[in-house]
Amino acid sequence: MATPFPFSAIVGQDEMKLALLIAAVDPKVGGVLAFGDRGAGKSTAVRALAALLPKMKVVIGCRYNCDPDRPAEFCEECRARADKGALKSAKMPVPVVDLPLGATEDRGVGALDLERALARGVKAFEPGLLARAHRGFLYIDEANLLEDHLVDLLLDVAASGENVVEREGLSIRHPARFVLVGTGNPEEGELRPQLLDRFGLSVEVKTPDDLKSRIEVVRRRDAFERDPAAFVAHWDKEEAKLRKKIVAARDHLPDVAVSDAALERAARLCMALGTDGLRGELTLMRAARALAALEGAKDVGDDQLRRIAPPALRHRLRRNPLDDAGSSVRVDRAITELFG
Ligand SMILES: [Zn+2]
Repeated sequence: MATPFPFSAIVGQDEMKLALLIAAVDPKVGGVLAFGDRGAGKSTAVRALAALLPKMKVVIGCRYNCDPDRPAEFCEECRARADKGALKSAKMPVPVVDLPLGATEDRGVGALDLERALARGVKAFEPGLLARAHRGFLYIDEANLLEDHLVDLLLDVAASGENVVEREGLSIRHPARFVLVGTGNPEEGELRPQLLDRFGLSVEVKTPDDLKSRIEVVRRRDAFERDPAAFVAHWDKEEAKLRKKIVAARDHLPDVAVSDAALERAARLCMALGTDGLRGELTLMRAARALAALEGAKDVGDDQLRRIAPPALRHRLRRNPLDDAGSSVRVDRAITELFG
């Protein structure tokens, strides 16, 4: 496997990095949708984050990456294994699975293993990409070009944490909890608003537009490509620090308080922006809590709400025919009006 670029060495892209860190602390925040320039390193950031996370314990031989410490979430095969005796476990890196644009539904969710069906007459299930992504990331480049029904299906599985396949006389369910990361290019087709709303966070990724950052991007990229091992070793300390912070935040997350006052602020902001339904508030609250956990704060304050509001809300705004400002501008304006 190619050496991933260290997450801490990524220049700029603060919003994308923050959204990914938040999803790593609390995957329930929902997926991340990254809009912006091609070649701005969206895929690099996801792979870098996955490589930074602590390796995960898995049941040896399981095709679904089951966690040996969470028997309640076992797939059927692990349940049968556990009945027969102790499970053997191993460690594996957090997976990043690419869903290619032309992928069929079968390839994603899994299908009948035709070869075995024909050769031996047994109906066996061949797990798809969703099984491989369990406990990791599912990455879709240019999600806006994927068929709506497939995006819908992926979002359903990501939200429920379970993949259910019923066809050709097969009935299979297996755990599939993953963070969906989609990228989009606003110039090439759009996701339907109903689908947009189901992504937890949306971020704008731009190639840095100041001279110093651009030089630094090129310098680091060049150093990495010339000697990946030395570059990674150089950033090792920073990576270890960040890893520790994420692990601590995951532990600390259940203890972070969300006061009535903070909930009221979140609701007021969503009302001022006219977001549909309650998904906006819910995501804003969850993401602010994960951010507070990352920062070691005891409770959610205005500071976290203010910083996380643009990625949590900007993709949920209805078009306002009387206001042609971009959604980021509208969120910023509402924040200033409410928080001063
Ligand atoms: Zn299993």
